[in-house]
Amino acid sequence: MALHPTSAVLAKEARANLLGGVPMAWMTRWPGSFPIFFDSANGAHCTDVDGVDYIDFCLGDTGAMTGHGLVQVADALHAQALRGITTMLPSVDAAWVGGELARRFGLPAWQMAMTATDANRFVLRFARTLTRRPKVVVFDWCYHGSVDETLATLADDGRTILRPGTLGAAFDPASTTVVVPFNDVDALERALATGEIACVLAEPALTNIGIVMPDPGFHDALRRLTRQYGTLLAIDETHTICAGPGGATAAWGLDPDFFVIGKTIGGGMPVAAYGMTAEIADRLAPIITSSAVDVSGVGGTLTGNALAMAAVRATLSSALREEDFAHTIPLATAWTDGVRATIDRNHMPWHVQQLGCRAEYWFCPPPRDGAAAAAAVDDELDAFMHLWAINRGILLTPFHNMALMSSRHTMADVDAHTAVFAAAVEALTSRDLPG
Ligand code: PMP
Repeated sequence: MALHPTSAVLAKEARANLLGGVPMAWMTRWPGSFPIFFDSANGAHCTDVDGVDYIDFCLGDTGAMTGHGLVQVADALHAQALRGITTMLPSVDAAWVGGELARRFGLPAWQMAMTATDANRFVLRFARTLTRRPKVVVFDWCYHGSVDETLATLADDGRTILRPGTLGAAFDPASTTVVVPFNDVDALERALATGEIACVLAEPALTNIGIVMPDPGFHDALRRLTRQYGTLLAIDETHTICAGPGGATAAWGLDPDFFVIGKTIGGGMPVAAYGMTAEIADRLAPIITSSAVDVSGVGGTLTGNALAMAAVRATLSSALREEDFAHTIPLATAWTDGVRATIDRNHMPWHVQQLGCRAEYWFCPPPRDGAAAAAAVDDELDAFMHLWAINRGILLTPFHNMALMSSRHTMADVDAHTAVFAAAVEALTSRDLPG
């Protein structure tokens, strides 16, 4: 309260007419009795309404992975806004954007969506249409947005059940979904062998329950088995674009049927895209040019509008390039090394995992699947680490212990986190804290 008087006032005012006092419910997940309100964000920094400056390692949970306030995006948005934001026609940037997505991500045919959630939803719809099969496979403790079929976890007895916390489910997820533990090739094959699975929707590594890396050979098995059983493979790179300019698909040589990318490709503007193989595009072309396509369940009035396309063009031509990753990946390595040194020095049973320009620590030894990672969630410890960091000028992603590097971060930013993290752990280990 003493540090954030203006935020306190704004929080009180916002409670009058915003549910939970915030425009988006998860904004209540920051530690403290009210959220900090931000005034401006530029590059790797964010300044709150009381003038407190933060190093922002959260970067809008990937939406601002380019760094905040990219001049090229701001200029493109300004120019396009004056020329028209949304019409029912494609804009001049459409062909360039399609070409760049194909060049980067290796799939030849693309469509736009507003969010990664939408893109995933559309991909699953197409996969069911093409295969005429009813179900999808997702990995336990995945997150692919608010897509109904993916809001499922595994019960102890192996049944697919509703993910804890899901509101107002329209159907039993077991009727649409089979949940499989990440890295469990036998369970995956059992699910695919039913012949009911239209699509496996997977992140290359789980990134929403800490970072859980694939075992060596896991992706080969996933690709081989999906082909063997006639199931389509959709890779969701919304977070794993952190692996490099072409995501983990390019970095690790993956070969998906569908590719989903959201959040970051518009430099923070709401825009996403999904790509597909030539064979799938040929089969979908007659469907998406039919007269009923506007009510097909795939689409959105504002999707692919001129402002979004201008944002993607400006972002992909000026950020998230090889040269940007050449700066950001070494920073993430240094961040990881700093955290690991403290963990080792204090003999903590924690680990830290790097994936490209993203890194995250978790309160357990490296897990092989989502359930093991979920078992180590500790809300109190999490709140302590985040609050400690915020009070020392560092923003980490809430409900994660994640840091993302933009090309505007510096080694001094990383060193600042290393010092703050070390002090937090030393405070934890040297004091007789309750529990
Ligand atoms: N896919 C993945 C892998 C994600 O992590 C998320 C969100 N964290 C989404 C999809 C959904 O993104 P959005 O909320 O922008 O729709």
